[in-house]
Amino acid sequence: VDERELIEKYFLSQALQRDDVAVGIGDDAAVLTPPPGKQLVVTTDTLVEGVHFFSDADPAALGHKSLAVNLSDLAAMAAYPLWFTLSLTLPKVDPAWLKKFCDGMFALANRYRVALVGGNLARGPLNITVEAFGSVTPGTALLRSQAKIGDRVFVTGTLGDAALALQHRLGKLTLSDADARAVGERLHRPTPRIDAGMLVREFSSCAIDISDGLGLDLSRVLAASGVGATVALTRLPLSEVYRRQMPSVGIDGALAGGEDYELCFTVAPDKLSFLRDAVNRFDCPLTEIGEIVAGSGLTIKDADGNPVELKSRGFDHFAA
Ligand SMILES: [Mg+2]
Repeated sequence: VDERELIEKYFLSQALQRDDVAVGIGDDAAVLTPPPGKQLVVTTDTLVEGVHFFSDADPAALGHKSLAVNLSDLAAMAAYPLWFTLSLTLPKVDPAWLKKFCDGMFALANRYRVALVGGNLARGPLNITVEAFGSVTPGTALLRSQAKIGDRVFVTGTLGDAALALQHRLGKLTLSDADARAVGERLHRPTPRIDAGMLVREFSSCAIDISDGLGLDLSRVLAASGVGATVALTRLPLSEVYRRQMPSVGIDGALAGGEDYELCFTVAPDKLSFLRDAVNRFDCPLTEIGEIVAGSGLTIKDADGNPVELKSRGFDHFAA
């Protein structure tokens, strides 16, 4: 089987057709027609075996997640997803693996009508790199630098479920089968908050997606905006599974576990009424967890309002 046959069999046959793809998979490069008058938003993310996933990982989940983490970055910019490319390095050609990987990836791609327009196949240690392209109306992208003193801090969904799933996978936490399945879905098949990003754009100009832990990712917003924030531990949105595990795992997984792929965003006080309207017509929870303040850095407060020291703020690939 040569590269051409693999591409035709697994990638070309499933790729979604879009009118704005003048030339897609199969030439030296793709030719794409950006939506008139829009800005392009571009992001890339790599999943590496042994770093981001276990060697026995379900290929369908890997296909889903490799695209989902990129769509999550587009969501954090409030970008509308358009296209993506895939660079796949495989140790060997395993047709059953490839089929499942593509099924997982294209199921998510079709849900958001994002088209695979090109990529590369190579032999080597398993490595999955996706680059995703989206569009925004000029000036409407949500930026890390736009948090203002007095803004309230919000997050979508619930935090810490992926961290529980990882602890369970590592044998450090015992969960019922049902609970393990529920949090496993959050770790292996995160939902990119594309719809939330579109909604948040109506009343916010500042967001980030939580990939490395709320503590670390919110700190990135604070640094980019030149402000500080206080977050109330008791307000962190937790799933039922997480609440049941709280006595043994504590709150660290929700604050610093990472891989939540929820959005964290800020809302100015005069926009809060718009948000409250929106919450009622939206299926994903939007929870107020704190406030932007003068100064720098993140202060976490306990139920009595006293500052709490964190063991870790999140996951940094390059930290010593
Ligand atoms: Mg991100």
